[in-house]
Parts: sequence; structure tokens; C-alpha cells
Amino acid sequence: MLVPIFTLKLSHKINPRMVTVGKFDGVHPCLTAATQAGKVFIHNPHTRAQKPASHRLSQSTQDSDISLLNINQAVTCLTAGTLGPNTTGDTLLVGSQTNLLAYDVHDNTDVFYKEVSDGANAIVLGKLGEIPNPLAIIGGNCALQGFDYLGNDLFWTVTGDNVRSLVLCDFTGDGKNELLVGSEDFDIRVFKEDELVSEMTENETVTSLCHMHSSRFGYALANGTVGVYDRNSRYWRIKSKNHAMSIHAFDLNADGVVELITGWSNGKIDARSDRTGEVIFRDNFSSSVAGVVEGDYRLDGQKQLICASVEGEVRGYLPAGKELKGNLMDSSAEQDLIRELSHRRQNLLLELRNYEENAKGVSDSTAGGIPANTQLQTALTVRAATEVQKAHVELCITTPNETIIRAVLIFAEGIFEGESHVVHPSVQNLSGCVRVPIVPPKDIPVDLHVKAFVGGKTSTQFHVFEITRQLPRFSMYDITVDPTAPPPTGRVTFTINDRPQRVAMWLNQNFLLPEGVDSPDVTFNALRGGGLLSISMATNGQITLKTDDIDLAGDLVQSLASFLAIEELSAEADFPTYFEELQTTLTEVDEFHAVHQKLTAEMADHSNYIKHMLVQAEDARLMGDMTSMKKRYRELYDLNRDLVSEYKIRSNNHNALLGCLKSVNQAIQRAGRLRVGKPKSQVISACRDAIKSNNVSALLRVMRAGVAAS
Ligand code: CA
Ligand code: CA
Repeated sequence: MLVPIFTLKLSHKINPRMVTVGKFDGVHPCLTAATQAGKVFIHNPHTRAQKPASHRLSQSTQDSDISLLNINQAVTCLTAGTLGPNTTGDTLLVGSQTNLLAYDVHDNTDVFYKEVSDGANAIVLGKLGEIPNPLAIIGGNCALQGFDYLGNDLFWTVTGDNVRSLVLCDFTGDGKNELLVGSEDFDIRVFKEDELVSEMTENETVTSLCHMHSSRFGYALANGTVGVYDRNSRYWRIKSKNHAMSIHAFDLNADGVVELITGWSNGKIDARSDRTGEVIFRDNFSSSVAGVVEGDYRLDGQKQLICASVEGEVRGYLPAGKELKGNLMDSSAEQDLIRELSHRRQNLLLELRNYEENAKGVSDSTAGGIPANTQLQTALTVRAATEVQKAHVELCITTPNETIIRAVLIFAEGIFEGESHVVHPSVQNLSGCVRVPIVPPKDIPVDLHVKAFVGGKTSTQFHVFEITRQLPRFSMYDITVDPTAPPPTGRVTFTINDRPQRVAMWLNQNFLLPEGVDSPDVTFNALRGGGLLSISMATNGQITLKTDDIDLAGDLVQSLASFLAIEELSAEADFPTYFEELQTTLTEVDEFHAVHQKLTAEMADHSNYIKHMLVQAEDARLMGDMTSMKKRYRELYDLNRDLVSEYKIRSNNHNALLGCLKSVNQAIQRAGRLRVGKPKSQVISACRDAIKSNNVSALLRVMRAGVAAS
């Protein structure tokens, strides 16, 4: 079995997900991690030469192999790697809620220190698209921003929600990297530079992403799911009751293909086959895993998998040697596997016996036999809200004869708690029809995998029917409309070069229409609230979508454009209520900025005053003037109390500012989603320019009219 080749006990606690390895002198790999109290530690067991302390770097008092870098703010992400020609070896990058530091550890100097108003929740370093130099790309408050080695921000765009994970990989297979972004709205988005080229919807916050090989990547969700995608199709996934803290690709069994290594919140490490998810190795730490990385820590030319726990325990594993023949687990794991297999065998034998019993009694319906013509039918119907039930889509499952449905099991991602739902009618209510209300929380297409147990009224054994129905993307829209409902004031208009029949085809595929439509002019009632949605098409190909929900308008534009294979689409839009709110938010941003500046100035004054008073108090002590000394310390005490409460105000102000900035980024993203391709990227960058120059009217003009083609 595979055992660690080295273990370390570091005297520093490690923040989860903030672990990296950097060769800061260009040669020796150093384990680097964020620790509590705004510090980053750099473990360097290879070169003992002490560096002179500077304003940032100091020696750990507990461990001579460790240097500490003072960030003086809570670290939110870090990484290391090749950024540019201006450092000896790797550059260390450390992000916080307000700043990004690029640091030359070897020369003990800042490469750059940038204010980042959208924060840095996640960071990745590498080449993106055709941008020639590597970028340090951070993801924060609905925004993505990339800096080169000079600190120039060469890349900026917005995304749907707060970013939680980033990775660079060649998703499209054209030899250039795309940026994969995991966010709090459960999406994994793929950016080709600033163009969104693909979107995968998961069912929880995407907390980690890692590149496996070619277009294959691993992902982890906040609900304990880990899995592997190849481009936009999911290969496999598993769900644990623990949380995946860190994922990393590493070839542990030395067969030339990387495995997905996961470090879990309960201290478990496992390595899973990239193709099947099967566990080929596991080990346990006594506390939660903080990070999984790799490096040649023994300097012998072979990379080790390096796992670190939150308590500072570090283990390095070498890829398995030939003598293990790919057999990485110890015998107890094998026994577990045998136990599991024999359990499965027993279940299968039981099932076989049931089939045999059933086969004997085919002519006798009480024994579970059912008529040969039995088939399961399903229907989906939009149901508006009534006094007793909320609006929903009804899935009706029926059998065509006297058989009954004993139970129904539905598996659908993102719809039911725990992804599956069981309906088990009571014995008195058994019939050949089961109705299940379904309320999809967002407008995404969902596959409903249905298993129904069908038999006779008194059967003890049942036939299982399995069918899959797709719930169309816009299923929560009812074509039955209240004629007195107020018309929407928001709208988006664009012109397409396609026949109305094709638009009608898109409507029939993406909405639940009982009789179907043959014209693109329809009005719906949005069942999740939000009023009416009307779609119309003029003879010149101009389409107008009227809704007060700008997100819905964006979803419709994107869905229709992808159905009609439109690569570039400009649009004019107006969402009066939403744009008014945005204007208010922008005014608030200005106010919060002003308060921030005032508070910062006051805080500087106060800290000068404190220094002054401390000196006076010390002087008084040395002079033996205890009365003055006490007086000064009492004043200091009061001042300290004021400072603490000022800090609270400052931090509330900052949080409110962050909330506003997030809304602004979201608005830019929404304005972008009303367009496709180049017109979309142009709108986003023009909006950013308008924000930078504080030009609110230009911002709203761009959002409304788009950018005229140049
Ligand atoms: Ca590519
Ligand atoms: Ca392997």
C-alpha cells in the first residue's frame, strides 16, 4: 500500500483552500499558505540563510524553517507562479477583500499592490486566450479582473454572481486557455477572454475547480459533491456528507493519467479515477484538509502530492512504484470492497428470486403480473396558483388499464431537496394516476427521471417502469393570461434574419404550450411573479420582448440566439424601473465612498493622537507623575473605545458599499446578456468605462442603446 514519503508538523494553522507551492528563488519549492491573523507563511526547509526582516517579512518564532509575510488583512486567496520577468523565481499573489498583492519573496519586495474594489475570493495565474503575458486573474463580487506583471489590468468582465473558484484550461481545444468560473449562482461559466462561450448549471455553489487534462476538469460544490466534466458534459460525480475542501489533479498510480484528488472536511483524502470516479487510494488526517498541491519537495526530480491539514500537518506522497502494481490501498480497504460486493450479490440474488416468483404467476395478477399492454404515460401541464396551491408544473403519470401505481420516485437536479422525490399514495388512494407538483426554481431545462412501481391493487410485488421527461427551460409561464393585468414597461428589441416559423418552433420547444403555437406573437403570465411577458415579431424581423424582469429578457435573448445560431446580436432596451433603481444605487456608491474617505482620514488623526498620548503617558510614568499617567491612560481608554466603534461604522459602510458595487456589476452583466457576441463585449466594456469616469448618463445610454458598431 501507498504510504507518505514525508510528514511535517508545522506550528501554524492553515486557512482552508489557501495553500500553494512556489519556487521563489527559481529552484526550491516552498509550501506557502495563509494562516490566521492576516499572515502568510512560507515554509522553506531547503535554504537556511536568514533574510533580513522587512516591513512585510519576518521569521516565525516557533519554527526556523518558516517566514511570515504580514498582510494585515484577512487573506481570501493566494497562489504562486510565473507572472513576469521582474522577479527571480515565482511571484506570490495574495488577495483580500480590498487588495491584491504581488510579492517577490526572494527579493523581499512588492511587485505591485493594487486596490481591487470587487474583492478577490479566488485567484488563478496563467495565460488567457491570446493575451501574451500571464495574468493574475481574480474573481470577486460578480467581477473578474486580470493583472499582468506590471499591475496593468488587461482583463475585466462581469459574471452572474460572486465568484468562488477559477481555473484556466483549454476548454475549446484550440490550443489557447479559457477561464472557467465557478460562482454562487451554481453556474460554471467558460470565458474565451471576455466572451462567455459556455455555461453549465450545477445545483450548489461551485467551491473548487481544477484542470485534469485536455478539456477535462474537476469540480466541487458546497453540498459535498465532487465530479469531473469533459467540456460541458459531466462524466461522473459523487456526493458525500462531508465538504470537499480542496481538489487537485495528480497521477498517483503512475499510469500516465491524473486522478482527481479530494481533501475533505473530515480529514479524508481520496484519489478517484478521472473516468469512473472509482476510489483507488484513500488516507486520513486527524483534522480537516486545508489544501492539496504538488511539488518536488525532496529535490530529487520527482513530484510529490502534498496534502496539508488545517492544523498544519503535511504529508507528501510519491506516485506508486511498479512493485505496488497500481494497488494503492491496504488490505482493509480491499476487505471493505469485498464486503460491499457480497452485499450487492445478495441483493441481486433477492431480486432474481422475485423475478422467478413473478414469472411463475404471470397468469395470476395477484402475484404481481400485469397486462402485457401496460405502458406508462406522462403529461406536463402548467397550473396557475389557486387558493390552496402555489403555481406549479404538474407532472401526471398514468397507466392505461386497471393497474395501479404503488409509488413514484423522481430524480431531478436542482428541483427537489436531495435531488429526489418519492410519492407513496396511501392504500385507500391507490389508482392508475399520480400527480406530482414540480416547481423549478429557475429557468433551466431539467431532465425528470421517473421510476414508477406498477402492479395490481393487491400485489405485493411490482414492475418498475423507468422514463425520462424533459421539463422545458421556460416552464413556469402560463399562456392563460388575465386580460386586466398591467402591461410590462420593460422591453428589449432586436432584429433577426429568420422566419417567424422558426421563432414559433423555439417557443414550442422552450415553453409548455398545451396546443402549441404557430405564430411568434404570444403573451404569458410569469408564475414566479414578475407580471406579464409578451413576445412579438414584426414583418421586418424585429422582435420585441416585453417584461419587467431584465434577467428573464436576457435568458430569452440568449436562448433564442442559441436556437437560431445567431453569433452577433445588438439590441435596444429599456427597463425604466430597474434603471431608476440602478441610478439610486450609483448615488449611494458615491455617498459610501465619501463616508469611507472621511472615516479613513479620522482614523489616521486618531492613531496619531494615540501615539502622542502614549508617549506622554510613558513620560509621566518615568517622571513618577502617577496622576498624569493615570489621566492619560484613561483618555487612551476612551479613545480606544471610540476607535472600536468607528471601526464598526467603517466596516458596516464598507459592506454596504460592496453590496452596491455588486448590484452595479450585476446590472452591467444583465445589460450584456441582452446582446450576443461582439455587441455584448462592447456593451460590457463601455459600461465599465462609464463607471470609471463616473458618467451615469453614459452608462444608462450604453445599457439602453448598446454600442454603435465602429
Ligand atoms: Ca481554447
Ligand atoms: Ca493515474
